[in-house]
Amino acid sequence: MIHELHNPIAKTLLNHLREIQTDALRFRHIVQELTRLLIYEALHSEPLEEHMIDTWQGSSSFGFIEEEDLIFITILRAGLPMIESATALFPKASSGFLAMKRDEKTHQSVLYYDRVPECKGKTVIIVDPMVATGGSLCDAIAIIKEKLPKKIISLNLIGSPEGLTIVEKKYPEVELYIAQIDEKLNEKMYILPGLGDAGDRSYNTEE
Ligand code: URA
Repeated sequence: MIHELHNPIAKTLLNHLREIQTDALRFRHIVQELTRLLIYEALHSEPLEEHMIDTWQGSSSFGFIEEEDLIFITILRAGLPMIESATALFPKASSGFLAMKRDEKTHQSVLYYDRVPECKGKTVIIVDPMVATGGSLCDAIAIIKEKLPKKIISLNLIGSPEGLTIVEKKYPEVELYIAQIDEKLNEKMYILPGLGDAGDRSYNTEE
């Protein structure tokens, strides 16, 4: 199921990403803030487990999210600021990395690096800024599903209606939280109005 954020803070931050004056440092910073907003939304009903802790008034039991059961997986390189933000919030969570290249002719994604940990019984949260054709997200979900996680959540910043429809049809069980659904894809499979190439914007590699 797809959940779009309607929070005005999320929209404001996202629209700053569209501005070409937003430099790489601020771009990554905003991506990190938006990732937090998406996590708050996605985990709003996550159960709390009771743990005994030492407090200023002695030992007592309090509720915590079981962060060891969370695995954040990103697709290099545009997702790096997102996974940094997620794992700073949950330092005991594990991380996984996939690298895919977009074939500029076929627009298909080609996997060339897979370092995904064991996922059995865990909550896997994919963090990837753009859902353009949906191809790389579907490939990532397929790889993760084989590892039998308890559930898969996807956190994304901007998506096209075309790509999101494909992901939702193929994997209706995936809970996808997105800050903005944009208008469409162009002929080069970029999202319009979008923000350009999220990896290039983050790392100053625009040509
Ligand atoms: N990837 C991006 O970074 N931007 C797009 O618009 C499409 C794919």
